[in-house]
Amino acid sequence: MSRSEFDLCVVGGGSAGLVVAAGGAALGAKVALVERHALGGDCLYYGCVPSKALLYSAKAAYTRHEAATAGIDSPSPAIALGKAMERVASVIRAIEPHDSPERFRSMGVEVIFGEGRFIDPARFSIDGRELTARRFVLATGSRPAVPPIEGLQQSPYLTNETVFDLREPVPRLLVLGAGPIGVELAQAFGRLGSAVTIVDQAAQVLPHEDADMAGIIQSRLTGEGVEFHLNRSVSRVEGAAGMIRVQLQHQGESETWLEGTHLLIAVGRKPNLENLGLEAAGVVVEDGRLKTDEHLRTSNRSIYACGDVVGPYLFTHTAEHQAGVVLKNALFHWPAKVESRVVPWCTFTDPELARVGLSETEARERAIRYEAYAFPFADIDRAVTDGAIQGRAKIITGPDGKILGAAIAGANAGELIHEYALALARNLKASDLTGLIHVYPTLAQINRKVAEQRQKQKLTPVARRWIQRLFGLRGERRA
Ligand SMILES: Cc1cc2nc3c(=O)[nH]c(=O)nc-3n(C[C@H](O)[C@H](O)[C@H](O)COP(=O)(O)OP(=O)(O)OC[C@H]3O[C@@H](n4cnc5c(N)ncnc54)[C@H](O)[C@@H]3O)c2cc1C
Repeated sequence: MSRSEFDLCVVGGGSAGLVVAAGGAALGAKVALVERHALGGDCLYYGCVPSKALLYSAKAAYTRHEAATAGIDSPSPAIALGKAMERVASVIRAIEPHDSPERFRSMGVEVIFGEGRFIDPARFSIDGRELTARRFVLATGSRPAVPPIEGLQQSPYLTNETVFDLREPVPRLLVLGAGPIGVELAQAFGRLGSAVTIVDQAAQVLPHEDADMAGIIQSRLTGEGVEFHLNRSVSRVEGAAGMIRVQLQHQGESETWLEGTHLLIAVGRKPNLENLGLEAAGVVVEDGRLKTDEHLRTSNRSIYACGDVVGPYLFTHTAEHQAGVVLKNALFHWPAKVESRVVPWCTFTDPELARVGLSETEARERAIRYEAYAFPFADIDRAVTDGAIQGRAKIITGPDGKILGAAIAGANAGELIHEYALALARNLKASDLTGLIHVYPTLAQINRKVAEQRQKQKLTPVARRWIQRLFGLRGERRA
């Protein structure tokens, strides 16, 4: 058999593909990187970076608006969405060089722009050139799923791929989808002056989170003026630029129409699997998803996949983690496995909602024996000084105190959750966190306080009486 031209050929230059390409080149592999648009992918152009940059502008506007609560008289801010979006574009430009083709070429990666396809299990054809590689890696990401709603295709709508191009004012925004993308953008637009309405067929926002934790985010957004229509699906869309109407459907109710100037579709993601010649390559797709094993190998043993195209977690940090697993397996035949137990994530609303490990709902559904403990930010001094009392931390432990999961809804939750990610990864118990000194006054104290709840609740009146008797303590006797 003739020798392959490359050690690795990566298709897709987003978060996952870039890590594989850079890592492969650094380890001495000959790497080709095929990208159809621009290196950087969703995260840089349509995802994490622009959404967090817009949330930053939104927070600045909100902070001015709320300044009076901090004793600062400040006129209501004049908001220009166009200027905020220009800043979003400048943030993307500032980060872009990090993912530039020049940078990757300087690492020794051959960057090839265009769209290609497998013509057989070992050859990928692009613009008349046939690429052969010892291992291929599919890292083509995902795109917004657009539901088959009557009239939607004939009406103007936005997705995360177009919303950051807006420069005109958005007086009334309808958001279809109350998942992380929908609620983050709803809060951003609301704070930047839009009247926002969210519709979702689920009964709660952020349906993957426990209802009590997601409810904290919903009540904050409601307080900021966002309107919710949950348990409702949209059956029809009509209208033109500047005037969109959506019809809501709910059993037993007469039809309701909502109106907006703009409509944002944020109902989920679809993996990019089309036109890649997967059939010719012998790569099996089941129920619209790539079939991969725990080593991220597809049904063609020479083709791996990572990132959103595989899932199930659609995050930049999981894409990067999977990329590391693929590198080890593809180059070194290391039996590295993808992590599925300790996967932290965060929805970057204000307050944030972060989670790692089991939720209470999951523990219940899987009939796992668990205990749940919670502690409110309102009882953390730093949260009080900073006016950030909304929210709580919750931990799920086994009967022996071993941490099984944690969720934090509150200021800086995305930073705070890492202590629990480490605790989970190292199989720690709640008592391991109570023994650790936490700086005062920090929000991180909530991580210790919530763990202490277990000790406190285990101290029954009987146990207290035994301690009093054993050590001769003379405090009040409790029934
Ligand atoms: C609005 C929004 C906000 C988000 N916020 C966060 C966040 O705060 N934190 C977080 O962790 N994650 C966030 N995400 C998710 C994150 O952006 C994705 O999980 C991440 O980008 C996935 O990386 P990837 O490499 O798998 O895919 P992508 O980054 O999408 O990269 C795939 C690349 O493949 C290319 N491609 C596709 N098909 C082909 C083809 N046939 N040939 C050649 N090239 C192809 C694409 O052009 C693209 O460059 C957010 C997503 C969205 C939409």
